[in-house]
Amino acid sequence: MKEILVLSGKGGTGKTSIVGSFAHLADSKVMLDCDVDASDLHLLLSPETIEEHEFRSGVKARVETNKCSACGMCAELCQFESVTMEETAVISRLSCEGCGVCAHFCPEDAIRLDENHCGTWYISDTAYGPFVHSQLFAGEENSGKLVSHIKSEARKVAEQSGAELILIDGSPGVGCPVIASLSNVDMVLVVTEPSQSGKHDLERILDLTDHFKILTKLCINKWDLHAEMSDEIELLAERRGVEVLGKIPFDSTVIDCQIQGIPVTASETSPAACSIRDLWKKLQKRIKNLPQQKEVSL
Ligand code: SF4
Ligand code: SF4
Repeated sequence: MKEILVLSGKGGTGKTSIVGSFAHLADSKVMLDCDVDASDLHLLLSPETIEEHEFRSGVKARVETNKCSACGMCAELCQFESVTMEETAVISRLSCEGCGVCAHFCPEDAIRLDENHCGTWYISDTAYGPFVHSQLFAGEENSGKLVSHIKSEARKVAEQSGAELILIDGSPGVGCPVIASLSNVDMVLVVTEPSQSGKHDLERILDLTDHFKILTKLCINKWDLHAEMSDEIELLAERRGVEVLGKIPFDSTVIDCQIQGIPVTASETSPAACSIRDLWKKLQKRIKNLPQQKEVSL
């Protein structure tokens, strides 16, 4: 089984449209959305939920009001200003960091540390195969842990279904969820766009995949919107030893497909669909030539 992760240094490069098209084109795969802070692959895959699970991580403090003597010690000690004093102490779940100081020093043993329910993850069925995805609640900060969790669940689904590929839609940027999503992947495909910020963020992603020594390929989306910048990006890729596997032209059909919630490759003739099909063929060949997967801990 191989794991292919599609990343973009920045948002809005068309990464998810390309993953949705790969989902349409690939045989024997499980799809996984690791963009846990703003997942949107489900908009293209129209999943039907088979399993729904709570994701719990860390703790949040809660006052047992019947025990609280309103001494104010917790409000004094909390470095995050999460405690306000009313008739009893009141702790804000939003700002509590779960450090446990208040619970440790409370003279009445009136503070409990509850497991934090911070998101939901799903195993779903789609027209293109199994799909593992999730939603982290607003303001929660455990995106890296959730990514690691759904990655291991996707592997189980792939093993059970005998899938040969896990196709992963990653987060934009180079933060915690991206680093977590890199664990054990066989190849990264970076989708960039021909702009100064696209080029800059591409370099940051390449630094990251270089650091973890992960085979990386590149695709330039909407390349014809700024042909000179596309040339610069190709030169940069050559300098960094990264193969440019595909260049996709700007095509308004992509927007039509997004509005209809269908993969771009559902269109037989659009220029973008033809380029994505060509990109997928090349990617398939590179996947076939990959060595057996090694366990890499990040
Ligand atoms: S330290 Fe304990 S008893 Fe004192 S105000 Fe806080 S919760 Fe109440
Ligand atoms: S657990 Fe830590 S952050 Fe949360 S209320 Fe207590 S002292 Fe403040």
